[in-house]
Amino acid sequence: LEKVRSLLGDRPITVTSAYRNPAVNAAVGGVKTSDHAQGHAADIVVAGLSPYETAKRIRDSGLKFDQLILETSRGVVHISFAPRMRQQVMTQAGKAGSEIRQGLWL
Ligand SMILES: [Zn+2]
Repeated sequence: LEKVRSLLGDRPITVTSAYRNPAVNAAVGGVKTSDHAQGHAADIVVAGLSPYETAKRIRDSGLKFDQLILETSRGVVHISFAPRMRQQVMTQAGKAGSEIRQGLWL
């Protein structure tokens, strides 16, 4: 996340969710395989940037990540790292558990 902060011009980043134990992950509707349950993911809000702009800048930066998910209804960007680094970019418009589409969509 320090690399994300740096590439976004050292803007403050608020982490709204990071590690979730299995009970918490289930309570928030996270899938069992969630990277949050492994401590590999964070949901972030970046000061002065919309979630869409945040995701777009990360996608276009060349930064290595596993999954980047624009979660429009929650107003956050989910980003996960190792062990996999698939560079997947997706949008989830609905609530947790709803359909996830490839690419960034407003
Ligand atoms: Zn997340």
